[in-house]
Amino acid sequence: MHVDAQTLQDETLIQGDICIIGAGAAGISMALEWMNSGKRVILLEGGGFEYHADVQDLYQGENIGRRYHKYDTTRLHYFGGTTNHWGGLCSPFDPVDFAKRSWVDHSGWPITREDLDPFYEKAHQWIELGPYDYDSSSWEKEDPIYSALPFDSSRVATKMWRLGPTRFGLKYRDSIVASKNVRLYTFANVCNIKTNEAVNAVEEVEIRCLNGKHHRVKARHFVLACGAIQNARLLLASNRQNPNGLGNDHDLVGRYFMDHPEIAAAFLVLPKGRPLDLYTFFHNFSTIKAYGELALTAEVQEEKQILNSTASIRDAITDIDSFNPGDGTIGLWNSGEESITWADGMLGFAFSGQSYFDTSKINIYNLFTRLEQAPNPNSRVLLSEENDALGVPKISIDWQLAEIDKRSIRGFYEVLGEEAGRSELGRVRMMDWLSEDDNAWPDHLGTGWHHMGTVRMHDDPKQGVVDANCKVHGLSNLYVAGSAAFPTAGAANPTLTVVALTLRLSDHLKGKAG
Ligand SMILES: Cc1cc2nc3c(=O)[nH]c(=O)nc-3n(C[C@H](O)[C@H](O)[C@H](O)COP(=O)(O)OP(=O)(O)OC[C@H]3O[C@@H](n4cnc5c(N)ncnc54)[C@H](O)[C@@H]3O)c2cc1C
Repeated sequence: MHVDAQTLQDETLIQGDICIIGAGAAGISMALEWMNSGKRVILLEGGGFEYHADVQDLYQGENIGRRYHKYDTTRLHYFGGTTNHWGGLCSPFDPVDFAKRSWVDHSGWPITREDLDPFYEKAHQWIELGPYDYDSSSWEKEDPIYSALPFDSSRVATKMWRLGPTRFGLKYRDSIVASKNVRLYTFANVCNIKTNEAVNAVEEVEIRCLNGKHHRVKARHFVLACGAIQNARLLLASNRQNPNGLGNDHDLVGRYFMDHPEIAAAFLVLPKGRPLDLYTFFHNFSTIKAYGELALTAEVQEEKQILNSTASIRDAITDIDSFNPGDGTIGLWNSGEESITWADGMLGFAFSGQSYFDTSKINIYNLFTRLEQAPNPNSRVLLSEENDALGVPKISIDWQLAEIDKRSIRGFYEVLGEEAGRSELGRVRMMDWLSEDDNAWPDHLGTGWHHMGTVRMHDDPKQGVVDANCKVHGLSNLYVAGSAAFPTAGAANPTLTVVALTLRLSDHLKGKAG
């Protein structure tokens, strides 16, 4: 069932068993899991079924730290959320990403990769990713042309990716609207979360519409699924009963904000030239496009005391010295509406496939890094002094990088260079900016537009906002779905893990709901 909240009588009270706030990858996955459950599910979405500039403007904010994307161009504020322009590249986090690593401050999840594996498999269905198999040898068995580069596998691995560009809004709109037990309210922006007097349980959330109407929702359980920055914003802005906001007794909400720094960093020179089909977007035994990136094993990360990262083998070039690393940098500096067009362009790029490489002629490749950003309490999201059109404080983003971030990219290419030489494959040359032993970054630094970590998960309320079940510490019925809960960022894009973690949360809530 679908209702436009703007058409309801003012001050309507909506009631249900579970209230999901936000209908992006996380919120829609959760709603799908609860369809036909016999429970009254309320799905609140701030936007409509399409892009509306006045709703998108509610996402306006400012950057006060390191140069960063404009927030309102990267996150989309309507049904389907940011999957309306995402790239669809997916891979699970590695086991090491969940581990407590002595060399990475604030690392360690209270759950393991094994805990998430069954949910990763299920998440594959909703994202339409094909079989849950990321072993590069599976593709090679299918066709020897997809052979991995001959590195020592105890040091350099091939990390596989699948491309599932499912637009959640387009794909699942009809089934959600037709559902008998899921009630979707569009143009229903949640602006405040109200707790009981003891501030240990949520009583209701307040909705404001741009046409001036206000409504309230009461439920047994509330799930915040607004994306990592909006989840933190809503917790911080819900400060009527506690001036620090909700879940923020230890000043953690909004901190540890992470993205994946992405940057052209080195060159791979292969004097003999060789097939690189595994490392381009290809399409074989499943209908899913896939490709491989180079990665270091967990053992080498520990030996070098560095973060996780991957390198994709990109542009074939003829002359290293005239290569402009900025040429390939794609930014979303334009409006949200324009960025939708951009994302379609990206899919075109992704599908361009093997013509991208011509190994018979050119044997120098740009190596493009995707880095796990270290959890850093000084990298954060705060409320600004200015309010949006609904009276909610806008966000300020103070994105910061630490010394270990740049050192990890350098460490990555040192190992890759050693191993390329040892295996007689070729040579790796780092770009000049990387050889400096400092925390300076060149202008062509980009990110994956992956927001993570602002409501981090930890068993100890002094070190995390949510527990291992994504429940906000100290509040008995408030949960967070999405990458806000990630304590560390991994090197893989987040959405597969967002959906897997949401499905795990859904199972937990089903247990509670009987
Ligand atoms: C250009 C681009 C490319 C990307 N490519 C990839 C990729 O290839 N692979 C990958 O894994 N990830 C990618 N991502 C990231 C991916 O889009 C996000 O990880 C994913 O969308 C997060 O899902 P979510 O549900 O947490 O948040 P969102 O998708 O942002 O959804 C949040 C929803 O909540 C709603 N909402 C927000 N505030 C409120 C409120 N107060 N009240 C009610 N509703 C509210 C929003 O309207 C929205 O529908 C990309 C992102 C961008 C910008």
